[in-house]
Amino acid sequence: MITFHNDHLVSPIFCKLIYDTIPEKYNVPVIFVPHTKKLRIKGDTNGSQINLYLQTIFYYHYPGEFELWKCLLHVIYHEFGHIITYPEWKHLESAYDQSSNEYFEIERLANDWADFAIDRLAEFDKLLCQPHNLGNYFNGRIIQLKNKSRNYNHTWGWLVEEWRKYKCGGQISASNIASASRAFRYPKSNYDLGRIQIPDTRLITQLAVDLGYEYIDRAGRKHLYFAYGDVPEIKRRVAMYKAIHGPAKSEIDYKARLEAYSKAIRERTRKKAAEVGQILPEIIF
Ligand SMILES: [Zn+2]
Repeated sequence: MITFHNDHLVSPIFCKLIYDTIPEKYNVPVIFVPHTKKLRIKGDTNGSQINLYLQTIFYYHYPGEFELWKCLLHVIYHEFGHIITYPEWKHLESAYDQSSNEYFEIERLANDWADFAIDRLAEFDKLLCQPHNLGNYFNGRIIQLKNKSRNYNHTWGWLVEEWRKYKCGGQISASNIASASRAFRYPKSNYDLGRIQIPDTRLITQLAVDLGYEYIDRAGRKHLYFAYGDVPEIKRRVAMYKAIHGPAKSEIDYKARLEAYSKAIRERTRKKAAEVGQILPEIIF
């Protein structure tokens, strides 16, 4: 049986879920740590207990209640993954060092197990059993942030989106799904590029209307949100559409903008190098 310490800080649904999904053989105590000086570590284990650092999880993953929930699940399954995959890495234990190849292998095994557990959960419930109430700790932090952020427009936008998701029950927007695909990740340094629409966003809203959770705001506009478990199906539909019709116009526009941007950067670097009389190797370009 898993013993939870400080479990008043998180949702009871979270504890129940972990209790139900981890095999009894690997049950060890789980401790929720509210404040920590280890600000880079979200969780750790020594094999006989697991610590979850809630403060770090909140700072890395808010805004976004779904992001918080998914991170909580990933961290705890990752730590249990270390315990469950122990027979596979115990021969590497003596060489464990934060920057060694053995370290990356051990972490990969735990991450794989966590991904497997989350995928299995998504098959059972496509919303990953996310509760409306994430628990006392996160509620307190979110209220604190909301009170602070009333004067800052950029945070306010996030909170409006959170409210829409909360009301309609969805988790991810179409642009979230589109930007998560590695090929179209934003070059964040460029303001201009960030202003154009991410390719596939409109395509996703067109192709997956039946899967979406709809929120209608006071101006009558419709906003679509999706469940985490629907993402593979949405990606399949988009790939099918592209195979038949070719890439969308927004994708062609985006690629052209990206090319123009990298060309401008190249020119600028060449010009600067010429000014100081530096000879750049051709291989960089
Ligand atoms: Zn780890």
